[in-house]
Amino acid sequence: MSALRFDGRVAIVTGAGNGLGRSHALLLASLGAKVVVNDLGGGAHGDGKSSSAADKVVAEIIAAGGQAVANYDSVENGQAIVQTALDAFGTVDIVINNAGILRDVSFAKMTQADWDLILKVHLTGSMSVSHAAWPIMREKAYGRIIMTTSAAGIYGNFGQANYCAAKLGLAGLANCLAEEGRSKNIHVNTIAPLAASRLTETIMPPDLLAMLKPEAVSPLVAWLCHEDCPETKGLFEVGAGYIAKLRWERTEGYQFNGLKPFSVDDVARRWSTITDFSQSTHPTSTTESFMPIMEKANHPSLGG
Ligand code: NAD
Repeated sequence: MSALRFDGRVAIVTGAGNGLGRSHALLLASLGAKVVVNDLGGGAHGDGKSSSAADKVVAEIIAAGGQAVANYDSVENGQAIVQTALDAFGTVDIVINNAGILRDVSFAKMTQADWDLILKVHLTGSMSVSHAAWPIMREKAYGRIIMTTSAAGIYGNFGQANYCAAKLGLAGLANCLAEEGRSKNIHVNTIAPLAASRLTETIMPPDLLAMLKPEAVSPLVAWLCHEDCPETKGLFEVGAGYIAKLRWERTEGYQFNGLKPFSVDDVARRWSTITDFSQSTHPTSTTESFMPIMEKANHPSLGG
C-alpha cells in the first residue's frame, strides 16, 4: 500500500494504450488520480488509428475501481486532449507526454516525411499537450509535466537521426518550461526509459525484454508527478529497476585572451586542456554557463 496518493488530481497520459503509457496510467489511477487515457491507436510506425487501445486501458482502470476516460486524438491536437480532461474532470494537474512512434532509417536514406512525422509526434505533440495545459496550471499555480526522451537522443544512435533530434529536443523544451514554470509551482522533468514494448520487442533479445517491465519505470514517473516531489528540470535514466539522474559536465576549459587574436594553432596546442575533465564543473543554468565568460569580461586581460 503506497502512502503517496493522487486523490483529487487529474492526469493526462498520452500514448497510454500500450507499453509505458499504459503502465503510468494504471499506476496513477490505482493511487487515486483521475486519468485521461489518450491514444491514437495506430501502429508503431505512425500508421492507422483505432479507439480500442485507449478503451482497453480505461476498462482496466474502471474494473480496478479507478476513474478514467479515453481520448483518441493525436498528440498534435493537445487542445482536444486537454478539453477531454476539462469536460470529464474539470481541470488538469499532471501531463505525462509519452506517445511515440519510430521511423528508423539511416540518415543517408531518411526522407523528409520520416523526419517530419517523428518531429511532429514527439516534439510538436509534447509541446501541444503541454501548451494547452499550461494556462490551467499557471492559473492554479500547480502542475507536473513529464517529457519522455531516450538514451538514443542523449547519446546518439545509428539509424535514428529523426528520433534522436526529436528526443533531445524534448529535453531542451523541458529545461525551458522548468524555468518558466518555476514561480508557478509547475515542475517539468524528463525521463529516458528502457522497457519492453512494441517499440523494442523487435530489436532486443527475449531474455533482456523479460527483465524490462514497463512497471519498473512508472514509480519514478509517479514520484516526479507527486505534489511532495521538489524535483524540477531533472533528467533521469530509468529501466529494470535502475533509476539515475544525469547532469551536464564541463571541463575547466582554457582561457585565451579574447582581446588579442589567437589562431587555430593556439586552439590545437591547448586541446588537451580544453578537453580535460579532471577539473570539471556542472553548470545548471545559462547564468552558471556564462560565468567564465562574464568573469573574463570583468577582467579583460585574463588569459594567455
Ligand atoms: P508503445 O508503442 O508501446 O506505446 C506508444 C503509444 O503511443 C502507442 O499506444 C501508440 O498508439 C501511441 N501513439 C503513437 N502516436 C500517437 C499520437 N500521435 N497520438 C497519440 N498517441 C500516439 O511504445 P513505448 O515503448 O511504451 O513508448 C512510450 C514512449 O517511451 C515513447 O515516446 C518512446 O519513444 C519512449 N521510449 C521508449 C523506450 C523503450 O525502451 N520502450 C526507450 C526510450 C524511449
